[in-house]
Amino acid sequence: ADGAGTRRRVLLKLSGEVFGGGEVGVDPIVVKRIAEQIATVVDGGVEVAIVVGGGNFFRGSELQHAGMDRARGDYMGMLGTVMNCLALQDFLEHRGVDTRVQTAITMGQVAEPYIPRRAARHLEKGRVVIFGAGAGMPYFTTDTVAAQRALEIGCDRLLMGKNGVDGVYDADPRVEPAARKYVSVTYGEVLRRRLSVADPAAFSLCMENQLPIVVFGLGEENGIARAIRGEQIGTVVAS
Ligand code: UDP
Repeated sequence: ADGAGTRRRVLLKLSGEVFGGGEVGVDPIVVKRIAEQIATVVDGGVEVAIVVGGGNFFRGSELQHAGMDRARGDYMGMLGTVMNCLALQDFLEHRGVDTRVQTAITMGQVAEPYIPRRAARHLEKGRVVIFGAGAGMPYFTTDTVAAQRALEIGCDRLLMGKNGVDGVYDADPRVEPAARKYVSVTYGEVLRRRLSVADPAAFSLCMENQLPIVVFGLGEENGIARAIRGEQIGTVVAS
């Protein structure tokens, strides 16, 4: 990546669901806890970029089922992600972390536009960059955007924070109690066994470009901080 130094650079994907603590809207206690974990590792010198989802507000597919136009619903979903970005930005700045929000839909009063080389410069300066509004395009997901941004700005790893699961299992743990969690697994094995890691577009971007994915549970004690530091947590998916 342009100007990348020797420091590690990671992309953290946070689902919108976690921001709402299971409800519609933003739960300040949850967001504060997330911000605190991120603040501890940024002090430690890892460059952190973040993509946040918006499932705690709207999902285009759900609005479509309720009778709305899909693309318009998707735009509502994207706008929802921006509210999560601003909440996370606020709590990070309270902790003294410098941040920038960049959105794929231009809204100059609240965020910078997405400019990859500028994002890289922010990261080099120790700022946390939070990407909002997904890809700015309907029919995409924030998982896919996370993979794309990670590749474009040269991240070493894509950290997928999950609600409800803490890694990749050889079968669905909710159905098969004997399912076992992988410490690491290859892309090929994930495909062969049809294991769920990320949405297919996101997964294939990572596989084609050999970007390792770390799937970990957001419910784990200090999970975000450990994943960013590169400690063994969850499952690593790589070649
Ligand atoms: N979305 C979109 N294009 C994008 C990213 C998101 O249309 O590039 C819309 C889509 O409707 C999606 C919603 O925004 O359902 C919220 O994003 P997502 O479902 O990925 O959030 P998460 O599940 O991570 O909370």
